[in-house]
Amino acid sequence: MTVLEPWIGKPLDELLGTLRDVLEDPDYPTVKRWRAAGGRVLGHFQVYFPEEIAHAAGLLPLRIRGAQIEARHAEARFGSYLCSIIKTSLELALSGRIELEMFVTHPICDAGRNLAAVWGRNFTYPCEILYLPQNANSSHAPDYLRHEYDRLRRAVERIACRPVTDDDLRHSIPVFNENRRLLRALYDIKHHQPWLLPADEAYVLTAIGGCIPREEHNSLLNAVLPQIAARTSRAQDRLRVVLEGGFCEQPPIDLLRMIAQSCYIVDDDLMIGLRWIVSDVDAGGDPLASLAGAYLEQSSYSPVQHDLRKPKEAMLLERIRRAGAGAAIITAAKMCEPGLEEQVAYSKALDAMQIPYFVSEFEESMTSFDTLQVQLETFVENVLFA
Ligand code: SF4
Repeated sequence: MTVLEPWIGKPLDELLGTLRDVLEDPDYPTVKRWRAAGGRVLGHFQVYFPEEIAHAAGLLPLRIRGAQIEARHAEARFGSYLCSIIKTSLELALSGRIELEMFVTHPICDAGRNLAAVWGRNFTYPCEILYLPQNANSSHAPDYLRHEYDRLRRAVERIACRPVTDDDLRHSIPVFNENRRLLRALYDIKHHQPWLLPADEAYVLTAIGGCIPREEHNSLLNAVLPQIAARTSRAQDRLRVVLEGGFCEQPPIDLLRMIAQSCYIVDDDLMIGLRWIVSDVDAGGDPLASLAGAYLEQSSYSPVQHDLRKPKEAMLLERIRRAGAGAAIITAAKMCEPGLEEQVAYSKALDAMQIPYFVSEFEESMTSFDTLQVQLETFVENVLFA
């Protein structure tokens, strides 16, 4: 089924505006439509989740990414010094804006680790922690993760009230392979012709996939990618930057729009979970083993995955090199321990390579960007006219 309002034939700019409205609507209209048709929902918290398993059970995997809302109920469930996304995500459920059959989080940080327990105290449905390997370099990691995915599969079967067979998974994997291929094509436009696709629009087109069925996201991307390529905007003399720091809490779309007015964001880690796996997952053989192997061996990076083969600062330098960027924006969500810690390593590596960078913090509820805009414009001018 489809959960977006009919969009075929809409002019591209109008469609992008509609998608942004849907994405920013804290009442999650697409999820409500899915439920109204009798669908069940598995909500999962950032960063990466093997959505194929929920899809194979006929559930809607919903990427819970907070919202620009006041955490009126959730504030009372948490301590003070926490990032915003933790609180607003729970608020979405406590305020009845989203209804779930199951919630899954991951031990990505202290706050994330405790989220399932706090969530579970407020709802009767299962709230699980998916333990992705803490040591991705252990020779036992693939086998361990395959078993962890199997444990998840059994939990999903209970709420879906049906078995999830290997064949079900083999049918789901190609849907997600196609989705990741289309997202790579979207990011290729950002790399090669960033003047055709401002960062805020690319973000909307990516993030909307987290709250609609993946087949519908594939149809949408298949329809809009040629329209973007056909745009006639001209290249401008702008600084090409990589934005790093959007792996979990998401910056406001207006902040991305503001940045896009002074530079081209040619790569980023926004909603990296949707793009975590960087090449096709084998749809034959043992599908859970393939998904586990892909998480470990065919994957991107983030401050919350610990893999000695992927030093974050080296990965960032590689991302900058591949994107042909001349500078970086190193940002982090307020109170995000993993994000703020990585800023130090990133800064050292960028200093060593003499790559200019702009350091900032954000919060999902920010609405005023004037000071940041002046600082960023000054940074960009300094780089361009150095
Ligand atoms: S934003 Fe940072 S601190 Fe908050 S849940 Fe995500 S990783 Fe943890």
